[in-house]
Amino acid sequence: MADIIKLLPDHVANQIAAGEVVQRPASVVKELLENAIDAGATLIKLIVKDGGKALIQVVDNGLGMSETDARLSFERHATSKISNAQDLFNLQTKGFRGEALASIAAIAHVDMLTRTEQLEVGSHLKIEGSKIISQEVVATPKGTSIAVKNLFFNIPARRNFLKSNLVELRHITDEFHRVALVHPNIEFHFYNNGSEIFNLPVANHRQRISHVFGSRMKERLVPVEEETEVVRISGFIIKPEFAKKSRGEQFFFANNRFIKSPYLHHAVVSAFEGLIKSDQYPGYFLYLDVDPSSIDINIHPTKTEVKFDDEHTLYAILRSTVKHSLGQFNVAPVLDFEH
Ligand code: ADP
Ligand code: MG
Repeated sequence: MADIIKLLPDHVANQIAAGEVVQRPASVVKELLENAIDAGATLIKLIVKDGGKALIQVVDNGLGMSETDARLSFERHATSKISNAQDLFNLQTKGFRGEALASIAAIAHVDMLTRTEQLEVGSHLKIEGSKIISQEVVATPKGTSIAVKNLFFNIPARRNFLKSNLVELRHITDEFHRVALVHPNIEFHFYNNGSEIFNLPVANHRQRISHVFGSRMKERLVPVEEETEVVRISGFIIKPEFAKKSRGEQFFFANNRFIKSPYLHHAVVSAFEGLIKSDQYPGYFLYLDVDPSSIDINIHPTKTEVKFDDEHTLYAILRSTVKHSLGQFNVAPVLDFEH
């Protein structure tokens, strides 16, 4: 029998990888915002139209790229952020897989403007379905603007699977929150269908939380602070009397990255035991800092699931820290249990 195995062409491989990285417009938003942050931006604009289906654009004032880097950035496994396997154990950046732009360009129409501080002119690059359409020299401010249109134009099944503009916008807003809450030192503007829906000035963490969720939040927050050999915990819990019946404001960040952790969530829930009803959820914004070598971020392409070396110790520290904060602020049980 003849040999039948062949290597897939790059654009097919990119399209397959894109399926994992880009589930919906919000995934594009996350990747573009993270790239802007990694580029050292101090000002980031997010512009979306029709729930991201018509347009997702991120404009930053970060480092920008040279003409060659602009092209290379859309190649798979092309990254400026790591250079060897050892770097994976000491990640300081959000990105490192070098596949977001390649994935996005495989399934959308991308328009990029970028310029570095050193160069007088920038580069304007157009890519559609992994194919470079044009690259021209252009006058553009320092930094990078990436506009993504016609998402999933070549994967009709995915395009049809998208929800209403309103639902997609909600997912985008969730991603925006997650990024904005962990970078209060960056100014953010978020425009939806031409109107500005978030204008977040540089602030501290507490101010940023109230800029995002409304000023009523300010008096609801109880600070949380702890430092041990294993972890540094900071942030806020929401006073038990403001606990909601729906999952509302629950945020864990590990090393400046939003993460999902049912296990650590349970630690907080158990610290709130007796203070909220069983059908209510505690609210929290908790920032955990651990040694980069004690956390594995590379277990899923979207990097929201992570693996801590010593989860059990973390659980115990978190639980007692939250309990301590609840106690210190004299949050006594106020509930009359009617059952
Ligand atoms: P990763 O972020 O994992 O490196 P990406 O595909 O997201 O992979 O980006 C590839 C490369 O393109 C980055 O490593 C970076 O060098 C460059 N890049 C992407 N976005 C920007 C940006 N907004 N500003 C400057 N450089 C960028
Ligand atoms: Mg990236």
